[in-house]
Amino acid sequence: MINLLGTICAILLVFLVLAIRYIHHSRKDNQRYQALLDSIPDLAWVKDKQHRFVVVNQAFRHIWGVEDPNWLIGKDDYSLSPPDLAAKYQADDQSVINNAKTMRYESNFEHTQDGERWMELIKVPVYIKKQIIGTAGIARDISERKSAEARLSWLALHDPLSQLGNRSFLTQQLNQKIAAALPFCLWLIDLDHFKRINDALGHRAGDQALTQVAYNLSNLGTEVFRLGGDEFVLLDEFTHADRINHTLTQLLNIPVIIEGLKFNQAFTAGQVSFPNDGTSAEQLLKHADVALYEGKALGRGHIRRFEASMATQAVRQLELERDLRSALQNKQFRLAYQPQVELATQQLIGLEALLRWHHPERGEIRPADFIPFAEKTGIICAIGEWALDQAIIELRHWDQLGLPLVPISVNVSALQLDIPHFAHSVITRLNKLPKHLRGKIALELTESTLMHEQALENVHALSAAAIPLYMDDFGTGYSNLSIISQLGLSKLKFDRSLIQNVPNNNAHQKVCSALLDLAAALELEVIAEGVETLEEAQWLLEQGVLYAQGFWFSHPLESSQVINYLGKSALNSHKLD
Ligand code: C2E
Ligand code: MG
Ligand code: MG
Repeated sequence: MINLLGTICAILLVFLVLAIRYIHHSRKDNQRYQALLDSIPDLAWVKDKQHRFVVVNQAFRHIWGVEDPNWLIGKDDYSLSPPDLAAKYQADDQSVINNAKTMRYESNFEHTQDGERWMELIKVPVYIKKQIIGTAGIARDISERKSAEARLSWLALHDPLSQLGNRSFLTQQLNQKIAAALPFCLWLIDLDHFKRINDALGHRAGDQALTQVAYNLSNLGTEVFRLGGDEFVLLDEFTHADRINHTLTQLLNIPVIIEGLKFNQAFTAGQVSFPNDGTSAEQLLKHADVALYEGKALGRGHIRRFEASMATQAVRQLELERDLRSALQNKQFRLAYQPQVELATQQLIGLEALLRWHHPERGEIRPADFIPFAEKTGIICAIGEWALDQAIIELRHWDQLGLPLVPISVNVSALQLDIPHFAHSVITRLNKLPKHLRGKIALELTESTLMHEQALENVHALSAAAIPLYMDDFGTGYSNLSIISQLGLSKLKFDRSLIQNVPNNNAHQKVCSALLDLAAALELEVIAEGVETLEEAQWLLEQGVLYAQGFWFSHPLESSQVINYLGKSALNSHKLD
């Protein structure tokens, strides 16, 4: 802007010199000066004290569609502009003359062909022999800059895909309503399983669906915003809440048409009202998120009103999610190791690496309380990588201490197995180990990991690289047995729920026996998980189960305890009677 003004002022100066010479010179010279004036790309003119044009350049004539260079001379603004605008121009000129001061401003007008145009104008008094004889002006067409500025300021507050207001706009609106103390309702809407459309049909189809949802929501007659992704917000007066809730319920499955096919795009909404549920934009959105979260927990497709009781629990969970994001960087994770033993001898045959999170304020947090969030947010992939690296580091360390080593099994999440290069990255890491340590890292997979083609590809690549693979929590899922038999697994880990109290539970015994027959048919060894009592251990041994893991043998150990344990394990082993 300053640069633009700088150049326009310099041009005005040149123009003034030329114009004054023009006024003072002979007709022959005038042609020369007129040619020079015409070479100025901005609109330029001189008027006398009665605001009549004395000189105009070609750019000026061009914008008004005037061909004859002399036609305008002696005429005033009323010959060009509508009376109100002409009067304003003349008033400005008069004030330049009266105050003997430069005037700068931006002005818009309706051009007959081009529509609205914006000009930046500078007007100055013209002196001859210290007397003001009129005014000179220069104007630059800044319409393009203006429309770029308008586009930028629109983009700052809108989402270009849906044309709806964005998060900044919403915050502005909320702050205004809160300042005016007007009661209102807010719905935070999140599309259910929207990712599936994106994954299955591609991002273009996803964009189409979002645009249609935006359109459908706009028809509700409320203010609508898109916060990004598949999140939308509706705002309306408090008194309209029931009507909106009713219409939204009818809309719970919003039909969208993608590539000719009709889909019912369901959504879940969290509703809050001001001032009841919060007194700042941030708090209201947070509580709407809490209500939404509760809605999703109910099985999606719900509109959930925020209740104060939701806050404590859900806010804690949201905080947990936030803290989880920084836990890796802040080195808050460590691995504990739970011994796996041979039932008959209680000799150590393996260690399961189990994640532990020490939260700076909340202390130890159990995996069951944070792994679901880590999976939901995808952070589990980075955590899983860390766990593998950490297990490798500790394995090398124990090896350097000369301890007798057993395989360490590392848990792998379903999400990791869906990463195309997962197997490759694991194999690369393990290949860096000295030969005698290869095969000392095993992976624990769960049945649910085997849903996708990509996961199966990874599993095949891992087993082809001779990495021991255990099927974790076996007996809880619905595995496709023909798939299981082809995976190249080395062990099945029977889930704790099958083992619990098995000596006294007929049904469990039957399931266990059947699964044991299956394992034998597949030629897979079994580790029984969660063995807590001597009776359970004995029953399992009688059934021919070779290995077990559970509190009866040992709780998970800190890595410093493992060093002790490994040192003594060979000495301590004894037979189970
Ligand atoms: P899991 O892989 O089935 O691990 C066994 C869980 O059972 C461990 O719980 C262990 O402490 C517990 N456990 C072992 N013996 C007994 C017993 O006798 N009685 C009872 N009541 N529990 C026993 P933990 O450490 O809380 O881990 C829970 C789950 O979290 C694991 O189940 C696993 O699914 C997941 N997990 C742990 N570490 C990781 C990891 O590094 N990555 C991934 N993706 N998941 C992990
Ligand atoms: Mg496990
Ligand atoms: Mg398990």
